Amino acid sequence: MPLVSGIPCPFCQASFAPGAQRCPACGASLLVAPPADSDVAVCAIHPEWMSFHACTRCGAFACSQCLREGPRGELVCARCHERSPYAPLPWDQREELGWVKAFWKTCVEVMLRPGVTFGRMSPEGSVGSSLLFALLTAFVGYFVTSLFYFAVLLVVPYENLASRGMGEPGPSFFRGLVVFFFFGWVVVMPVLSMVITVVASALDHVVLRLAGAPSTFAATLRGHALSQGVYLLGLVPFCGMYVMPFWSAGVRVAAYQKLYRVGWGQAALGALLVPVLSCCLGVGGYAAMMMSLVKSP
Ligand SMILES: [Zn+2]
Ligand SMILES: [Zn+2]
Ligand SMILES: [Zn+2]
Repeated sequence: MPLVSGIPCPFCQASFAPGAQRCPACGASLLVAPPADSDVAVCAIHPEWMSFHACTRCGAFACSQCLREGPRGELVCARCHERSPYAPLPWDQREELGWVKAFWKTCVEVMLRPGVTFGRMSPEGSVGSSLLFALLTAFVGYFVTSLFYFAVLLVVPYENLASRGMGEPGPSFFRGLVVFFFFGWVVVMPVLSMVITVVASALDHVVLRLAGAPSTFAATLRGHALSQGVYLLGLVPFCGMYVMPFWSAGVRVAAYQKLYRVGWGQAALGALLVPVLSCCLGVGGYAAMMMSLVKSP
């Protein structure tokens, strides 16, 4: 995929962005009439101007003002750009790619190139598709670490616990209980995480709106759910689980900034205010509880 940072100015060679009418470096007009009696390519829409590049989609020649940067950094004409300004997200192509590949690719892109990924994708996406992604990320994110914790519970030497009378449950009973709770947890935890995602997205949506971002619930939910692609880190036992929330909060700032094309301040407010406040409430509540425990005789 050719990534363009700009097109060279014919007068000073400094690069200008697609769509520009003047060179930002030398100030020359980029709407250049083709030399008489020459066969240089001219714009398909404006035959009076020289073409700088052909559209990589339809092949039409385009003048500087008719060029656009496509979703992959390629040069396209204004018409093609208007028709399809976004790059498809692997998760939205899961029917073609297969679910595992679409999920994996989306997680990796979100984790490693959040700005580019959210900048090029469409903010439109169904609530169901976002919820499904949140469900899978929670499962992937917490499964391995949960497995370790429950495995520890499984090897506790129940045989050595205080001597039991007849008829009391034996070690196999306790181990059975651990296995039962593990499978229960594996089902409950992703559902719980999905519910938390909906509530958190709704709160972020309100904050974004108050901060002046053109937020819609569906798009904020999409950004929030996709930012959990970072939960792929959960496959690394223990440490992954503690890095995930912070990394995904950072990704969420990028998600809101790109999806709504707002400033970093507004995006950060939308992504971080609710988690920070709920942390403060949690810590405050815990401290208050401790204080009351200490005070009580
Ligand atoms: Zn120039
Ligand atoms: Zn085109
Ligand atoms: Zn043109």
